[in-house]
Amino acid sequence: MVYFVGAGPGDKELITVKGMKILEAADCIIYAGSLVNPELLEYAKKDCALYDSAKMTLEEVIAVVQENEKRGLVTARLHTGDPSIYGAIREQIDLLEENNTQYKVIPGVSSFAGAAAALGAEYTLPGVSQTVILTRMAGRTPVPERESITELAKIGASMAVFLSASMLADLSLKLIEGGYPGDTPAAIVYKATWPDEKIIRTTIDGLAEAGSGISKTAIILIGNFLGGEYERSLLYHPEFTHGYRAGANNNG
Ligand code: SAH
Repeated sequence: MVYFVGAGPGDKELITVKGMKILEAADCIIYAGSLVNPELLEYAKKDCALYDSAKMTLEEVIAVVQENEKRGLVTARLHTGDPSIYGAIREQIDLLEENNTQYKVIPGVSSFAGAAAALGAEYTLPGVSQTVILTRMAGRTPVPERESITELAKIGASMAVFLSASMLADLSLKLIEGGYPGDTPAAIVYKATWPDEKIIRTTIDGLAEAGSGISKTAIILIGNFLGGEYERSLLYHPEFTHGYRAGANNNG
């Protein structure tokens, strides 16, 4: 059996209970060494085989998994954050399915959630935005033109930009080109939930300068949800009625 496990954003206690139990039981852990906190490997059994996938190809990863399968061993494939976001799990799953190998995916806390927690921020503020865009700048992996930062910026929703910390000058230009005012609040969260986490609050105009020392393991958040203005929620408003609570003027 193969488990794709979301490691969470960094802090070793931010893996799910299910994910932790799988690491404890695994005969082999293949972890994304460039991003997964090595402290998570402390959950492994003494004789667990460890492989850093940063040094491996897809084929090599699958070969290790298939060898484990032949021997009836449990493999944990440990991905940073949640495996469904830039996790490259689909190509692994397709190869496993070709070989009729059983697998299960255990979700994790994505870094966009870890970063918001670090900031005490809420992406979906009433009167500001009710949508979160998770995206990246085009790098060696291209992004479809209709999803370019300039196009997405036109929507004006809250944004979390992955894999782009080394392209901040270009990111601000594209956000402004799409219509965001340069003084829109932005934040750079480096290694959210790790012991050496850094939070930099800035604006779109200030991104490049503020993040000049940072090129890796950072997520960029953009939008007025980082600013001071919003409307309070209806859900907890004294006058609002819903299925679980009658409000003062019974509008439900
Ligand atoms: N599956 C992961 C994303 C992997 S892509 C997730 O759900 O978070 C790698 C990118 O994720 C990095 O370039 C960075 O933008 C972001 N990232 C991962 N861990 C992070 C952390 N602890 N703090 C800030 N950004 C992080």
